[in-house]
Amino acid sequence: MSNRRFVVLGGGESGVGAALLAKEKGFEVFLSDFGSLHDAHRETLQLHGIDFEEGRHTEARILQAVEVVKSPGIPDSAPIVRAIRERGIPVISEIEFASRYTDAKIICVTGSNGKSTTASLIHHILKSAGLNVALAGNIGKSFARLVVEDEFEYYVLELSSFQLEGVYDFKADIAVLLNITPDHLDRYGNDLQRYIDAKMRIIRNQEVNDALIYWIDDPILNREIERLKPKATRYPFGATKPFGTTNLLGVNNLHEPNTAFDLNVQLAGYVDGGKLWIDVKEERFDMELELLALEGMHNVYNSLASGIVAKLMDITDEQLRASLSDFKGIPHRLENVATVRGVLYVNDSKATNVNSCWYALQSTRSKTVLILGGKDKGNDYTEIEELVLTKVRALIFLGKDNSRLHAFFDGKIDTIVDTDSMKEAVNSAYELAQKGDTVLLSPCCASFDLFKNYEDRGDQFKEHVRRL
Ligand code: ADP
Repeated sequence: MSNRRFVVLGGGESGVGAALLAKEKGFEVFLSDFGSLHDAHRETLQLHGIDFEEGRHTEARILQAVEVVKSPGIPDSAPIVRAIRERGIPVISEIEFASRYTDAKIICVTGSNGKSTTASLIHHILKSAGLNVALAGNIGKSFARLVVEDEFEYYVLELSSFQLEGVYDFKADIAVLLNITPDHLDRYGNDLQRYIDAKMRIIRNQEVNDALIYWIDDPILNREIERLKPKATRYPFGATKPFGTTNLLGVNNLHEPNTAFDLNVQLAGYVDGGKLWIDVKEERFDMELELLALEGMHNVYNSLASGIVAKLMDITDEQLRASLSDFKGIPHRLENVATVRGVLYVNDSKATNVNSCWYALQSTRSKTVLILGGKDKGNDYTEIEELVLTKVRALIFLGKDNSRLHAFFDGKIDTIVDTDSMKEAVNSAYELAQKGDTVLLSPCCASFDLFKNYEDRGDQFKEHVRRL
């Protein structure tokens, strides 16, 4: 048996990237996808002479592999993954594989919410400062695909828990851990700790010269860091002044900063007197919060984390200030779509869990008609209950099966409407909203029941709003 037989499971962006890199490195590559491939991916594989199959997993062939890259979308419970593991064949992620072939400096961002925003903002800051940097991972192109060309000196990687599950020797030079709240519990057998453990793999192999940037107000993160005692140098950020004085952003109790942390911890980033402060390398950077490009409290955190990365990488104050104020943001995250008859329509289609909806609802400045629903991943809506009761004029459920939403919200809100298309949802919102209100699409759920993905859901929302 050849010891260069390499199998990639799943033919999405990360699988195709891994296959390209493996081919380039001289492996005998076979890619297997149980579903069907996108045309572009199929063409890429054909163009590079990479052997593949669709619509099945040919076990006999797959089990000959010396190593398997598993795409993040494939759960461990899939029979083929079980069979591979039973044979003792190593299963790694595309991130692990790609990291073997680059010496570039790697900045990783993970968390339950804010990954794409923060990774994009960091990339924007570094690129604007003239660094040769790429953005990859769970956003845009896969890390492996970019490593084939190997032309970048820095990578900013957005990493999901599924990508982190398959890392072993991978090391982040700078790791950013934004927050951990329940998500994807369907994939983790309803076991929050398994999800947490996957996220915490971002600190693996880090040494004292590496940096760990994290949100100190997050009780789960604090507990885990206390437990795991990472070797990396820590750069915590939070909404409190250094030495844990008061909560300066005035948030509600569920999200109140956790003052249980050691009050002598020196924060690397914090908020004080209407300004964001970064204290790194014995220098202090400050910037008025109102000059930040991104709105909302959650984005203050994202800006703090990004600012710490920037100062660790010696970006000048002027460059950092300019980038934090001219960043354009990314679509489908609290994106203002239009104002129609005095009602503001906001697209937050990317809010696929309850915590991100909390931040979105928290940021609206008026009574809100909230559109939510989709593929429920075992959500507990208690987290948004108080905000819904105080701010929401009407709830519009948009999903194939709205029963879990009904079970929670019936009797709590007077106006609840069931819809199963975006057109119907937007038209209902239009009828129910009053002048000065906000209509917010922040679904708490995945989109796959009615839409191709969250982008499709957000695009359809925008299209129907524009037709009003
Ligand atoms: P991710 O890539 O982790 O899914 P995004 O940056 O795409 O995160 O943002 C998704 C949604 O999460 C946003 O629309 C916003 O409502 C919310 N969000 C963004 N940043 C944070 C944060 N730091 N904490 C909590 N929620 C956030």
